[in-house]
Amino acid sequence: MLSLAALSLRLGAAGCRGGRRSMATVISGNKTSKLVRERLKKEVEKMKSQFSGFRPGLVVLQVGDRDDSNLYISTKLKAAAEIGISANHVRLPNTATEDEVLQSIASVNQNPAVHGLIVQLPLDSVKPIDTERVTNAVAPDKDVDGLTCINAGKLSRGDLGDCLIPCTPNGCMELIRQTGVSVAGKHAVVIGRSKIVGAPMHDLLLWSHATVTTCHSKTPDLPAQVGRADILVVGAGKAEMVRGEWVKEGAVVIDCGINHIPDETKASGKRVVGDVHYASANQRAGYITPVPGGVGPMTVAMLMENTVQSAWRFLQKSQAGR
Ligand code: NDP
Repeated sequence: MLSLAALSLRLGAAGCRGGRRSMATVISGNKTSKLVRERLKKEVEKMKSQFSGFRPGLVVLQVGDRDDSNLYISTKLKAAAEIGISANHVRLPNTATEDEVLQSIASVNQNPAVHGLIVQLPLDSVKPIDTERVTNAVAPDKDVDGLTCINAGKLSRGDLGDCLIPCTPNGCMELIRQTGVSVAGKHAVVIGRSKIVGAPMHDLLLWSHATVTTCHSKTPDLPAQVGRADILVVGAGKAEMVRGEWVKEGAVVIDCGINHIPDETKASGKRVVGDVHYASANQRAGYITPVPGGVGPMTVAMLMENTVQSAWRFLQKSQAGR
């Protein structure tokens, strides 16, 4: 008997049903992230009862007062509160110097009640601050954004059990798992090579045993590369750049893009689209993530996952040290 995933892929390979191509199966990040958050809530309850009221601790460090950052931070704090994670927002003024930011990080690094620390990027400072230096100052075992060189290095070597993985690509992997399509042996194509999306996505797919091609702004003939992808992950920051005609029939398409384009039919005068042209890709893909409601909600869920995972490791170490 064929599984739903296998059946869907077969139909995708056939390309049509009754002469008309069926639409892709939509992979819902809203539903998947809800499941992850519910599981984490139970884990935190278990921690609390097993370790006399213990709660995972998260700190979000912000420099300045960007509106978009404020919105992202409030989403993270709300998700943490719902799960039972003790989350604190530390805000430094936009006049903070690099040394002051580093001092703040050092103090959170030393606080045993905090198991996860994220520095909200981009930094909104009037002073020159080296973002790379700041991200690397976070203790690797509290680096729940997975952005330190230590965690990135472990991931690139395939030490997945011993590192914190960046949240967006980790969320993409969870969405790919939801399809039931096995990654091993597939040809995966990643568009983008940033530290936060493309590069770690490449590593995760590689160590899940896909053969991976990573494309960037200098890659010639992007449509031909995309056409070879059984699994396509796009994080380019270019509205609707990947056209449906490029996509291989039956492919798994994961769209990380968040782009605002003008739309006069909306009260705000704009709407959010991904890096993939959804309407046309939906006609060829086997599975596809929507924007919004795809990768976005998974990023926050994976941040919570990393925080809980980091707290478990802390507890294990404390128990071992007794
Ligand atoms: P960056 O701008 O840091 O990186 C974009 C990457 O795409 C670069 O590697 C760039 O290549 C590549 N690229 C740009 N244009 C092209 C092109 N025409 N052809 C091929 N490659 C191209 O962006 P991020 O990685 O931070 O973000 C990517 C997207 O994901 C954005 O839309 C962002 O909003 C979204 N995002 C979504 C998140 C979520 O939670 N859903 C979280 C983080 C990001 P090169 O290296 O050569 O410049």
